[in-house]
Amino acid sequence: ILHIQDLTKTYQSTGQTLTVLDHINFSITEGSTVAIVGPSGSGKTTLLGLCAGLDSSTSGLVELNGIRLDTLNEDARAQVRNQYVGFIFQNFQLLPTLTALENVMVPLELRGEKHIKPRALELLDKVGLSDRSHHYPAQLSGGEQQRVSLARAFSNRPKILFADEPTGNLDTETSEKVVKLIFDLNREAGTTLVLVTHDVDLAAKTQRILKVKGGKLISDEPTGVA
Ligand code: ATP
Repeated sequence: ILHIQDLTKTYQSTGQTLTVLDHINFSITEGSTVAIVGPSGSGKTTLLGLCAGLDSSTSGLVELNGIRLDTLNEDARAQVRNQYVGFIFQNFQLLPTLTALENVMVPLELRGEKHIKPRALELLDKVGLSDRSHHYPAQLSGGEQQRVSLARAFSNRPKILFADEPTGNLDTETSEKVVKLIFDLNREAGTTLVLVTHDVDLAAKTQRILKVKGGKLISDEPTGVA
């Protein structure tokens, strides 16, 4: 479902070229679960953003569900994202002026779906937040915001879910809940999972671990998980 070839990303800062990703190659099979690990600053978040079509590469190929993202402009990439991709951000990125319910309704509206409200309520219920639907992000705890972000990411029934440190700032109990929800989506709907994580236990639950260091892919190993 995801094919990356010679993916390179550089930034220009104060006259210097910073190579953040350096000729990365890998493919991910539909329905599989993959963790991307590596030291802080190694390029994991950048890589995830490029794979999901949130950002554009400097060079190289990104093919998602058979569609070349690297040749598309931002609007066309957004359409592909709305159709196939779920994304959970490191810092949640909920819209602060919208309630939990409205945040979950946004992607459904963008897809022009009907019966948006009951569907959004159903999703909030699934993540255990039906009683918080009219709260604004600032009125929610970190774990609750993370679960709203999960409900939002699930709302378009994504073929592939990207999550950047999904258990990052969560206590053990909330983290277990979030991990279960994510893996249920894989088991029940066949959603491909691509998770960036520092959490060794979480990485060990996936089928394959990609290790990134200094912008290069330095290892690509199966974990033995079926
Ligand atoms: P962490 O585990 O700490 O989240 P990471 O592996 O996800 O780190 P990235 O966030 O992908 O790393 O960043 C990789 C490198 O790219 C860092 O050195 C960062 O400073 C640099 N970088 C990221 N975004 C930009 C930008 N917009 N402009 C310039 N440099 C950037």
